[in-house]
Amino acid sequence: MPHNVLVTEFVHHLHRTGLLDVNVSQGATPDEPLSPAIKAIAADLFKITGDSSFKAISEWTMIGQAQSPQLQAAIEFLTKPRCGNPKGKQSPLSIQTFGTPSGRWSRGVLTYSIDPRGCNLAAAQVTTIIDNVFAQWQAVTPFFSFSRVPSGGDILLAFAGAETDSRFGAKSGVVATGAPPEQGRIFFDNSETWTEPLLRSVGLHELGHALGLTHSNDRNSVMYPIDMTFAAIDPESQDALRMLHGWAPQVPLPDRATSDRPSLAYTGSVGLFSASYLLHMVWKGSRDDQGIYESSLVNNVWTPQEKIHGIGSTESPALTAILTGDGTTSTALLMAWRGVKGDQGLYWSTTRFGSWSPQAKVGISASSDRPALGVYPGGIYLAWKGIDGDQGIYFSTFDGNDWSPQTNMYGVGTSASPALATLNGVLYMFWKGVEGDSNLYYSSLDAGPKPIWQPQRKVAFVTSKAEGAAWQYPGTTHGPSATLRGNRILLAWKGVEGDQGIYFSLFDGNEFSGQIQVKDVGTSQGPGVCTFGAFTHMAWKGVEGDNILYWSTL
Ligand SMILES: [Zn+2]
Repeated sequence: MPHNVLVTEFVHHLHRTGLLDVNVSQGATPDEPLSPAIKAIAADLFKITGDSSFKAISEWTMIGQAQSPQLQAAIEFLTKPRCGNPKGKQSPLSIQTFGTPSGRWSRGVLTYSIDPRGCNLAAAQVTTIIDNVFAQWQAVTPFFSFSRVPSGGDILLAFAGAETDSRFGAKSGVVATGAPPEQGRIFFDNSETWTEPLLRSVGLHELGHALGLTHSNDRNSVMYPIDMTFAAIDPESQDALRMLHGWAPQVPLPDRATSDRPSLAYTGSVGLFSASYLLHMVWKGSRDDQGIYESSLVNNVWTPQEKIHGIGSTESPALTAILTGDGTTSTALLMAWRGVKGDQGLYWSTTRFGSWSPQAKVGISASSDRPALGVYPGGIYLAWKGIDGDQGIYFSTFDGNDWSPQTNMYGVGTSASPALATLNGVLYMFWKGVEGDSNLYYSSLDAGPKPIWQPQRKVAFVTSKAEGAAWQYPGTTHGPSATLRGNRILLAWKGVEGDQGIYFSLFDGNEFSGQIQVKDVGTSQGPGVCTFGAFTHMAWKGVEGDNILYWSTL
């Protein structure tokens, strides 16, 4: 095929897929310059697909430089079977990793039916393939239990033509769509020549949508919008579904109560041939009880609460792990808290030398709320809100013996307690805005020789809906809680005024996944989170009027 025809066909496919504005035209004669818009799209497509033909196209300046093999490869890629669901963010090339554009299933026991009419494969074969698709997703999380019914059901799968979706009715291109929860509709293009591998792969992808997942920009993901013919669900997509539906049902801990929220941290006892780890929980007592209590998780049961003698606070303490200093990687607890009623000074104690050390003051620091502790390569950090009437955020570092003089974090403020977590050697701080501002903010601190906090940014994420994408700003009445989970930070918080729900989002250092509400739980104070081994643990006080503690794992 002459290469000017290929140029025209390539541009046609860019228009058809919605990647290039239909008003942008491109001449095909050799002396014609290649449109900067097309060069930019090709560069983005190379980033997303890794396909070298797009890299070559992005580097051409004139049509005369165009090469037929690259154009043919690019056209082949653009005409691969792909999903017809909206791509995600404003830019058609920037695909949300995963999230929950339209919520999640409120129940996990679901039925489905398949109408194989219109498919070129035998009905029995279609059923076998789709049954396998459901079985694979069911194996990901105990939340779901699927059973097939002859017709109807919660999720309907059918083969349809252009009368159902105008993009159907031709081979390749858009071959299927999957509606988000709880619509339960999956359509396959009846003009496609379906094979067992293609139907399984596209089925896995569309059921992922039907269960609440959006697209991934990782071509190794079954949620990648262009079909890569997968036979199984990749780990990223499995994790995404567990995030959506994976919190275990809450376990009430009625032997303990608080008027704040608990804090969690784990310690490790590392010997030459073995290591054992223990998850700890600390909290302030209920109402007028300013005592601080502790408990640990042994054989998946929380030990009876024990009061830590000689200390007290109006709020719960902050908790983290610290090296014992015996030359091993064994850790002990480091705890920090504000004083009792009338005493806004900050105190600390550690179990480095066995039992809790006598309380000591953190310099001249003072706070009206609970402080936050974080460990990162640059040291141990303590961060806190100022005293009553002071919404500034302050921090201090610990050298193993004492705390540095407090430093004010310039230009930021909060009405609550901040949270700290470390990702890839970078310390992140998250906090609620000042009085009247329910937004969540964050900043990061590099472990450089002269570390400085980056300007604050608002916690935000993009939701994609059929009618377009929009930025969402989650809100809270209390300080958030943060913990490292895998290669992301899990940030959890209570909802805004009047909303006692618990929400969480995952932050990869660049962007937040959509916020996900934890099912069937509520708090008046916000949760405490800590990842321990394969699970993220969360503990919280109940809703207004309910002061006992609850616990769940993800
Ligand atoms: Zn899709």
